[in-house]
Amino acid sequence: MPQIIEWKNPRSEDIVWKYPDEDITWGAQLIVREFEAAVFFRDGKAYDIFGPGRHTITTLNVPLLTGILRRIAGFGETPFKAMVIFVSTRVVAGKYGTRAQTTELAPLQVHGSFWFKVENPQLFVNEVVGGQNVYTTSDVNSYLRGFLNEKIIDELSRYDLLTVFTKLDETSLATKTAILDAFRRIGLDLTDLRFEGIDTTPKYRERLFWLRTGRATPGEVLRMETVKEAAKELGKSSGAGLGTGMVLIPQIMTPTGVASAPAAALLICPKCSGKIPATSKFCPDCGTKIAAPSAETKNCSKCGHAVLVTAKFCPECGQKL
Ligand SMILES: [Zn+2]
Ligand SMILES: [Zn+2]
Repeated sequence: MPQIIEWKNPRSEDIVWKYPDEDITWGAQLIVREFEAAVFFRDGKAYDIFGPGRHTITTLNVPLLTGILRRIAGFGETPFKAMVIFVSTRVVAGKYGTRAQTTELAPLQVHGSFWFKVENPQLFVNEVVGGQNVYTTSDVNSYLRGFLNEKIIDELSRYDLLTVFTKLDETSLATKTAILDAFRRIGLDLTDLRFEGIDTTPKYRERLFWLRTGRATPGEVLRMETVKEAAKELGKSSGAGLGTGMVLIPQIMTPTGVASAPAAALLICPKCSGKIPATSKFCPDCGTKIAAPSAETKNCSKCGHAVLVTAKFCPECGQKL
């Protein structure tokens, strides 16, 4: 009775299975079902590959393996040593999930699904199964998850926060393309990749809100965060005169986001007529020096000192005015 080499009862989600016996006899019957490939593997290298069908193993149909066996074990010696690795060529679904960072180092958490299939069993066995010593489906899955996560981290690090969130379709397409290339190099075809959840921390979620509404430029958002950090620090230190309430957050950053006019008093620049804060020493638009507002004065009838028109007594000599 010849040796029968077959993958018994593979489940649809299985990716790989190693035939447990590494002693193979010439004349063995190799049974390969639909959506399977069988790869002869020895000393870290994939040799002959079989597609679906029933095959009798002879020196004729494993020429690559025969070539090396001839050199190391003597021609036709039986049994000979080799691993038979079965690989599924069905589309298999996988999950990924990782932390990543944007160009401005905003933390991201991303998770989703991917679908792939073994396109080149020989390359897959060389690069992944034999190459990484992952001979079970669960080991292959965890290897691929790590591989994918790494590629996603690389890819997302090329985008800024706003791009990641507002151009998710383009970002995920670019990510998919990059991963497709990486998968091809390990014998896999990436059928699909989806981002199912992407999030950042509350601080960056708030930043994103302002950037997204277009009410603030990245510079303004950073300034707001600095003000808030300072407020938090001041609020923490005991005995500090300033509480959080004392720190002015720019109007544009109020939680309601209503772009109402600032409450601060305004002056009109004498040169350009621009509206400028009353405390300005120079016009922020044209640079004109702004004189301190001069109150109206009169001269004291006794000492001649300049006093405010509203004064009831001269602050210099006490004369009733
Ligand atoms: Zn001006
Ligand atoms: Zn006086």
